Parts: sequence; C-alpha cells; structure tokens
Amino acid sequence: MKDIIQLLPDHVANQIAAGEVVQRPASVVKELLENAIDAGATSIKLIVKDAGKTLIQVIDTGMGMSTTDARLSFERHATSKIKAAEDLFNLHTKGFRGEALASIAAIAHVELKTKTEASEIGTKISIEGSTVTEQEPAVVPQGTTISVKNLFYNIPARRNFLKSDTVETRHIIDEFHRVALAHPSVAFTMTHNGNDVFNLPESNERQRIVNIFGTKTNEKLVPVTEETEILTIDGFVFKPEFARKSRGEQFFFVNNRFVKSPYLHHAVLSAFEGLIKPGTHPGYFLFLNVDPKSIDINIHPTKTEIKFDDEHAMYAMLRATIKHSLGQFSIAPVLDFNKDSGFETPYEYSKKTPVAPTVEVDRDFNPFQKEAKISGGGSSYRKEKQPAWESLYVGLKDGFEARTSGGSELPDVSHSSWASDESSIHMESDSVTGSLFGDTIQKTGQTTFQLQNKYIITPLKNGMMVVHQHLAHQRILYEELLKNITVQEAVSQQLLFPLLLHFTKPDIEIIQKIREQLEHTGFVFSAIEEDRIEISGIPVSVVESHAELVLEQLLNDIKNEVPDAGFSQNDVLAKSMAKSMAIKSGTSLNKEEQEHLIHQLFACKEPSVSPANRPVLITMDTSDFDKKFM
Ligand code: ADP
Ligand code: MG
Repeated sequence: MKDIIQLLPDHVANQIAAGEVVQRPASVVKELLENAIDAGATSIKLIVKDAGKTLIQVIDTGMGMSTTDARLSFERHATSKIKAAEDLFNLHTKGFRGEALASIAAIAHVELKTKTEASEIGTKISIEGSTVTEQEPAVVPQGTTISVKNLFYNIPARRNFLKSDTVETRHIIDEFHRVALAHPSVAFTMTHNGNDVFNLPESNERQRIVNIFGTKTNEKLVPVTEETEILTIDGFVFKPEFARKSRGEQFFFVNNRFVKSPYLHHAVLSAFEGLIKPGTHPGYFLFLNVDPKSIDINIHPTKTEIKFDDEHAMYAMLRATIKHSLGQFSIAPVLDFNKDSGFETPYEYSKKTPVAPTVEVDRDFNPFQKEAKISGGGSSYRKEKQPAWESLYVGLKDGFEARTSGGSELPDVSHSSWASDESSIHMESDSVTGSLFGDTIQKTGQTTFQLQNKYIITPLKNGMMVVHQHLAHQRILYEELLKNITVQEAVSQQLLFPLLLHFTKPDIEIIQKIREQLEHTGFVFSAIEEDRIEISGIPVSVVESHAELVLEQLLNDIKNEVPDAGFSQNDVLAKSMAKSMAIKSGTSLNKEEQEHLIHQLFACKEPSVSPANRPVLITMDTSDFDKKFM
C-alpha cells in the first residue's frame, strides 16, 4: 500500500488546536485579558460588540512587543513565558502554552498594534486565518491592542453553534469577573456595543468585589484569612443569611488563577453546614496561595482545573478557616463551651463557638493591681468560672469614672448609679415589673434570663424583648470607644512586661497613622520600629492576651475598608475594636451581668442597632403569642 500519512499544513493544525482553546467569544476574552496581565498592564480595556461575535478588543498598558516578537507571537508554541519543561513547575504567569494567539488568528480577523517602551515606533500586524495580510510600522502608545473580528468566520458550523447574544455576553462577563477579581490592583473597563458595563479603578480586594457586584455586597462579606506553611487563604465568604437558591458568586483562585474545584467547593459547603438552608448556596471569593511546585494546572486545555499534591490538607484547612471566620463574626449558631474544650479542635462548632485555644494560665494576673481585670473579651470566659460582674465591667466603670472626673458630662452608667439612673433607661417593662415584682428590673434581679448563652430575654409591658448580647456589647463599646477617640482619652492598664508584637512593614505604617487614636483608646506604645512594636499599656477593657488579636483585626478591617463608604477612620477603628472586644455569643452571663448589659445598652445613643447596622434587639408583642394559640 502507498504511504498515506502526511503532515497537516500549519493553518489546518492551528484550526484544530483552536477548537480546544477557543470554544466561544468568552474564551478569546479570557486569553487576551490574561496576556495583558502577563504583560504587566496596570490598566486594561475590553471592548465588545455583538457579544464578541463582531469584535473583541483588548487595550493594555503592558510591556508591549518588539516587531519580531509581534510577528512570532502568532506562531504555535511561541511563548516568552517558559523555556524548558522544568519551568512548568514554577509558573508565575497565566499563559505558558503559546497557543492562544495562534489559535485565535486561525479562526478570525486579527489586528495587533504594539509598542515597547524602548522603541520609538510600534508595529501593526493584520492576520486572517493564519495568513499575515499586513505588517507595517505604526505610531501607537506603549502597550498592546489586539482586535479580534468576525470570530469563526471560516468555520460556519462553529459560528452557528454560538448561543444568543445574551448567553455569550454572560460568558464574557464571567471571564471578565474572574480576571478582574484576581487583579484588583489593575484598573479594568468593559464596554459592550458602546455602553459602559464595568469601570473598575485600581483598588483593594474588597473594593473590587463591591465595585463589581454592587455596594450592597459590602455588608455581606466576612473576611477569611489563614496562613500556614503550605497554604495561605485570603478572601471573603458571604454571611450565611445571604445564601441563595442559585449558585451565584462562587470563586476560587489558586495563585491568582481562577479554578474550578468541586472538591474545594465541597469543603466550603461543609463549613456552612447547618448555617444555611439545604438547597441554598453560599457565596465566596477565596484566594489560595500555594507553592507553584505543589500544583498541576496543566490537565485541562483551558486551565480551570487544578490538582493539588495534598488535597486532603487543603480541604481540612479551608473548611476549618471558613468555620473559624464565620464563628469569629458570631454567625455560627452558638452553643455552650464545655470545660475541657481546649483539647478539641477549636473549629468543632457543633459543640461550641470557634475560638482560639485557651491556656489555663492567667497571664493577665498583675500583683500590683487591686482588682482582677476581666474584659468583655471572650477569652476570659472559657474557664467556665463565672466572673463577678463587677470585674466584668470594671474597665468600663473605671473608664467612665475617669472621664466623669475629667469634667465631661457623660451619662453615668456605672453600677453604683443604676437604680437612680432612670432617665437614661427607657424600658417599657419598668412599670409592669415594678408593680408586680418591685420597683425596677435591677432590684428584682429576676427579670432577665439568657437563652443559649447568646440572647438575653426580658419581659416588657406588652410582650418581651430579646437582646443579642454580642451585638449589644458591640454597641456599648463602640459608643464608648468613639467618645474616647474623639473626646477624651481612656485610662489604660499598665502592663507588667511590655508586649512585643511583630508586624509587616505596611502594617506598621498603618499603626503609625492611627497611633494617636489608638492611644486615645488606652494603648501605650513604648516603641514603634520597622517591623515590630512594643506596647506598655492597653485599654482597660482588653485582656492582655487579647491585645494582639484586637490589633490584627483592626489592621485587617482598615485594609479591607471601602473608602468613600462614608466612614471615617475613627469609625472604622471603633467598630473594629468593639467587634473584637465585645463579649461573644456563647458566653454565659449571670443575672447581674445580663441586667448591667441591658442598662448600659439603653444608655447608648442608638441602642437598637449594632455598629454594623445589625439589629441588636427585637421585641415581641403578646398579641403575637395570642395569634399562635388560636
Ligand atoms: P502564552 O500566553 O501562552 O505565552 P499566547 O499565544 O497567548 O501564549 O501569547 C504568545 C506570546 O505573545 C506571549 O508569550 C507574549 O510574549 C506575547 N504576548 C501576547 N499578548 C501580549 C500582550 N498583550 N502584551 C505583550 N506581549 C504579549
Ligand atoms: Mg496567553
């Protein structure tokens, strides 16, 4: 028999390869955006016409290409990103296959304009179906502009398979989201048929999410962070109450590359287990960073699938980290602590609130201080001992006394004046309980009780009131902290041994910027150096072992703050500190503590909402009950 095997001509090979790389207009968008990122662009514009069927254009401010490179970039397996097979295991770029431009040029009309910084004049190349039709010098700015017109013009079957413009545009926007979310420091715009679809300025991650998905998104986000030797996790999950019937916003990025991982998705779902209704989906934006050597992203032509060396560890860490974050933001359902919980994984929320492991040493013991300091911080309560309420609020009381003696007219909510301080307490229940059980709640000591160590319940004239203890305490601390920062300084507790805390340089810069405000709340910095700070005093209502956490949370919140959201730095600071200092859900409070909390709450300017605008209390009318008994 005659020999029948022959080599396919390049343009045919390219067309076949294109079938793998380019399924639809969105695939072109992805490849072009990724090339622009790889080229170090700080600003990327995407212009689309007719869902990409007529035009896809990407304009970037990246490094551009020399004339030779511009011509070579359309050859198959032409890439500047890897040189040898080993490089595959140490990838820091999106592309590496050198196939995208060759594939796109095989099935569309492509025009490339590009210029490097070094060259005076740029290059323009036009290609149709793998054939160069034009190449000439061109006066263009630094960077690259690629226009892809008439996609699949030479493969009618493919063109006919494209879905409606709405569907194809949806796919393009999905790709746009994925790249834009992974690169918040790059500015992006997108227009479709001449209309602006997105305009995303350079920003931080949280702002980027908000800019893409709308301002309402901000309040839904719970930050997630973890750093271990093999993995760092960063990002956000939606609070469980925002879980939706449709899948919605679910994004995994590994080393800044969007990936699909049913396995990791499952880890997230399992962290939400019990917190969301079956059939609803949590939202998440999770950025995982691992050693590039430990992953294989090469198993799928469009590279959205990934294999980890140690999948099990990833799963466990991701699940634990998310549970922890949900718990920290007191979103997890909360149950009692058990005594020997220190030996269990702190993430086992079916038994208790996720909290850091506890040490049975009272590091806050200070022989020179008369009273034991116990703050509103959750850590003090894990020993199951009931602290006396006086010590629980000693910080606040001192704080107020100090300020009152300083001459300002602040509402006195310290214990000694409860009974006489009727004016600042507006509780409907007073009259009824008064007539039945005595004058006021605080005298009877009978009228509150705690539910699930999370809610304080108290009767009202016409029903009852349920107070969320953690949110209530946040409100109290928030108002107090704001006062401290803006009006007067709080007293601080001297530390027996100064605390030495290490931070990154950027974090230290932030601390420098808010140093004064922090000092107003009671922090005393004895030294601030390049990478560490020494603290010799902390606010009275912070336990020493908690101080670092409070600062870390604060730095985190400041970094994730959305500027122009209308909040001042003081507000962010007070909110953040209030949140980390407030007694947690799951903390058992005795009667006096419960009552004191309620009285302090009603001495606040805005007792009914938390600093983050969540309701602090709800009331239920007896008529509501009546209806239930019909
Ligand atoms: P890959 O990205 O896998 O290397 P591509 O076919 O997407 O392959 O691109 C081929 C080469 O063309 C790249 O390696 C890069 O050197 C160059 N290139 C492509 N797009 C750009 C761009 N926007 N700016 C600068 N260089 C680019
Ligand atoms: Mg590429």
